[in-house]
Amino acid sequence: MNSSLNPQRTVAELKELRALTSDADGAQRVAFTPLWVKTRAWLLEKLAGLPVETHTDAAGNFWATLRGESEKSLLIGGHMDSVPNGGWLDGCLNVMAGVEILRRIHSQFHGKPPITIRLVDWADEEGARFGKSLFGSSACSGLLDMNEARGLMDKQGITLPDALKNVGVDFEHVQAAGVELKNAAAYLELHIEQGPVLLDLDLPLGAVLGTFGVERHAITFHGQAAHSGSTPMNRRKDAFLAAAKMSSEIYEIAARSGNGVCTIGSCTTKPGIVTSVVEECRITLDQRHLDSAKLATMLAEAKSASEIFAREGNVKVSWERIWQIAPRPFNDELIALCDEAIRETCGQVHRLPSGPLHDAAEVAAAGVPTVMMFVQSLHGISHNKIEDTKEEHLELCVTAFDKLAEKTMRWIQSH
Ligand SMILES: [Zn+2]
Repeated sequence: MNSSLNPQRTVAELKELRALTSDADGAQRVAFTPLWVKTRAWLLEKLAGLPVETHTDAAGNFWATLRGESEKSLLIGGHMDSVPNGGWLDGCLNVMAGVEILRRIHSQFHGKPPITIRLVDWADEEGARFGKSLFGSSACSGLLDMNEARGLMDKQGITLPDALKNVGVDFEHVQAAGVELKNAAAYLELHIEQGPVLLDLDLPLGAVLGTFGVERHAITFHGQAAHSGSTPMNRRKDAFLAAAKMSSEIYEIAARSGNGVCTIGSCTTKPGIVTSVVEECRITLDQRHLDSAKLATMLAEAKSASEIFAREGNVKVSWERIWQIAPRPFNDELIALCDEAIRETCGQVHRLPSGPLHDAAEVAAAGVPTVMMFVQSLHGISHNKIEDTKEEHLELCVTAFDKLAEKTMRWIQSH
């Protein structure tokens, strides 16, 4: 049935893309730049042999549609943009696997599949230039914060609306892209894991349960500056001492939560001199979990711990929210299909949450049944030119992702 699928061709095309869009430091397909435009032209060439309708939507996302007997659509998505000095697989693996699946479906159904199949290349997934990830998909889902996005500026002082104008996109109308999801019955995304979980388990592929919710806060402990020589230890109001106790506490909090993670990523002290007790210590706390109740518990536990440590040290503590996003669990039935497709391809599967956000999170938030498949990352590293995946795993993931597409088509038909 899937005899026309050629995963080796996908690997060859990814290498061709790498040669075309990378330099000695890695991939340079940053969104809305000339090289990104060239990448899209290359993608269009790859689709030339297929009877697909192509267009760019109101947010700059590129769509290739293979019309089927029904308007109900199976969406397959990825992103051709990269961070500067990026890896050769992040994002484009998904798109090129999608191209191969379009070819297989086209040949199997002689150009007219039972449902419509649509490939999407999301615009500016990485947010490398304007500091805001998931631009195209969040415009499409309706969750883009227009006021925030309007003011974004790159290092050269070019605003996001101006950069968009250069590629023919009118910022004020980007949310009109929402119309693209009208007949969307399911969304599938393949991605490199970008972490070490599958590598450590020695498994090529995983079914993704959803993307983590995030709570990000700044926590400031307020003590009193005092001379390091003349102040006895028992008279100090040491803001750093209270903050430092948080460091080991977050490991306990994360462990109690099951699969959550907590990170204190920054710590600044005032007055910050060698001869003074710390008057003010500000740390940042990033907490992530797939389960919103457990995420809320992790946050509550961190808050109460900070209050206890503040009291113990005779200092005060204040919290300030920097950012938050809810967990985006994927569709249970599609997770089961993904699991099945992986088992059929390589025998074993692991289910895991995604720490990084992906366009799939936006599509899921828009209410479209969604699932992602991960393929093992060597070194567990991404956003770096050393990002890599074994070629045999790349071929396996195209095969498994194609099986998932086939199963999902049947799932859509039966709904
Ligand atoms: Zn990516």
